[in-house]
Amino acid sequence: MTAADNYPIVTTEQYIEGIGKTHLVKLDQISKEIGRNVYFKAEYENSGTSIKDRAANYLLKDALESGKLTPGGTLAEATAGNTGLSLALLGRTYDPPFKVVLFVPENLVQEKIDLLESLGATVVKGPLVAPDHPEYVNNLAIKYAKETPNTIHVNQMDNLANRRAHYETTGPEIWEQTNGKVDGFVAGAGTGATFGGVVSFLKTKNPNLKAFVADREGSGLYSYVTSKGESWAAEGDSLIEGVGKLALTGQLHDLLDLADGAYRQIDRDVVLQIYELFDQGLDIGASGGLNILSAVQLAKSLPEGSTVVTTVADHAHRYASKLLNKEYLESNGIWEYIPEHLRKYATF
Ligand code: PMP
Repeated sequence: MTAADNYPIVTTEQYIEGIGKTHLVKLDQISKEIGRNVYFKAEYENSGTSIKDRAANYLLKDALESGKLTPGGTLAEATAGNTGLSLALLGRTYDPPFKVVLFVPENLVQEKIDLLESLGATVVKGPLVAPDHPEYVNNLAIKYAKETPNTIHVNQMDNLANRRAHYETTGPEIWEQTNGKVDGFVAGAGTGATFGGVVSFLKTKNPNLKAFVADREGSGLYSYVTSKGESWAAEGDSLIEGVGKLALTGQLHDLLDLADGAYRQIDRDVVLQIYELFDQGLDIGASGGLNILSAVQLAKSLPEGSTVVTTVADHAHRYASKLLNKEYLESNGIWEYIPEHLRKYATF
């Protein structure tokens, strides 16, 4: 049995039917403790087990409708894994299937690479270099698409079909599921489409909504937002995959208009949050832990009884060799901070 067996073969219609309409889960214990309501969208419920199904669906539809992609073509994309997984899963539902070539950062967790390859995708590792470097993964994908016939660069970073997915689905779902009672929204930004799409939708409904970016160590977004665009301090990578930026994307072109502020969490606190959530029966990936910590921070700054919503992109078990691995956490100086009674969740 390979990891690919966890994803049954379905038709395109069935796959798309399983995207969106995810549950809005209340964090009961935390909400009680702080006297505010904190919810998250359970995006691991999507067909491909992550939030990136929403993006892949809209991006592929856009490529087909614009005529840039024709049957049997190839999808080339730079991805930290989840978008690649969604493209591979959705691409294989077509007849003939779309070929998928993914350019991933060289430190991507091995489980994700194994899974992508077992689904038939080609995975190419690229070095951790600055976005203006020719070997930066996104530049590798652009070059490959240019040089290969019937191949498109999916371009999740700048193609606004990605953001539209969240403006038309995630945002309206949050509005309906809270009966319009949402005072704050928090999300990290990978491409920034979730943050941009959800916030631009919710602010049309409630202009007083407070929108905060959840940033990780090493990313430039926090300094950019909190300095109102005056500074950009990005030091590099962190343990949290999929979010945090070294350069702005097209999805975030109006970030300073949309964001009321930003929070930055250190890796250690995010991991601790994830382990505490395991103990509450939840399996929350690193970017979800970052979002929840930040949502709690925003909720505490709002009046009692306020409601703050965030997103959980995927499960922690997707990153078992890092997040659930004692040795990995030890070598990153985090293990010693995990309380004794929570250590049993490190099962890798
Ligand atoms: N969390 C994870 C694990 C991701 O892979 C991504 C997408 N890169 C995000 C969050 C952020 O989503 P977005 O690209 O819409 O900003």
